[in-house]
Amino acid sequence: MVTSDFHMHTDFSTDSKASAEKQILSAISRQLTHICITDHEDYGYPTGNFHLNLPEYTRKIKELQTTFSDQIRIELGIEAGLRPDYQKEISSILNSYPFDFIIGSSHVVQGKDPYNADFWEGIQEKEGIILYLEETLKNIELFDDFDVYGHIDYIIRYVPSGQRFYSYSDYSDLLDAILKTLIQKGKGIECNTGGFKYGLGHPNPHEDLLKRYVQLGGEILTIGSDAHAPEHVAYDFQKLPDLLLSCGFKYYTTFHERKPQFHRL
Ligand SMILES: [Zn+2]
Ligand SMILES: [Zn+2]
Repeated sequence: MVTSDFHMHTDFSTDSKASAEKQILSAISRQLTHICITDHEDYGYPTGNFHLNLPEYTRKIKELQTTFSDQIRIELGIEAGLRPDYQKEISSILNSYPFDFIIGSSHVVQGKDPYNADFWEGIQEKEGIILYLEETLKNIELFDDFDVYGHIDYIIRYVPSGQRFYSYSDYSDLLDAILKTLIQKGKGIECNTGGFKYGLGHPNPHEDLLKRYVQLGGEILTIGSDAHAPEHVAYDFQKLPDLLLSCGFKYYTTFHERKPQFHRL
């Protein structure tokens, strides 16, 4: 059983209306024992402000750690939208607060988020996927201030024609380079069950990529629902032990003070 959800948002994030208290109570009601709140910080987001009020966020999560200390363990995390053109600003924030866990994610590529329709205007779907993966690789090479890379094939959620242009083998050069660079740098990946919520029938990344990560020697794997609302906390976690064991994992990972801890699946 997986009892830790290490990717969730609260109303400190621009795109969530759920209070941190509600997310925590939902986690407790789902028998989770350990969570990490990972609100969004995205520099240069194209359609408005995606900044966290970091002093207030840090203060509030620390306060909730104490309030709920006999019911659930809460870590202070962040999901940082990484991009080469804001490297200095992003790194400076990530080193200024006492985060337990940092997810590095690619959300915006060349100024556009594949979540928004304008990303897909005037480009082939395959071209869009390659752009996204190339930029992910660049971020992994450039940044050191993160623990796992978030939802590596996030873009597949938003391909206009669905998943049909995606299979691991079509992008294996880029995906292998991404995984190998992460492993070499001592970084991990996450299994993000948002893919199930989006109806993909797979987590992000896809099982083929999870298997490949194990084959290449990858060990660090956190698990997160990417919940923006209480009903999505620990989303479809009951599917994970079988799914991850069949991909070759024996452990999943949590973080405290940026150090990994391993738990048997
Ligand atoms: Zn994300
Ligand atoms: Zn997220």
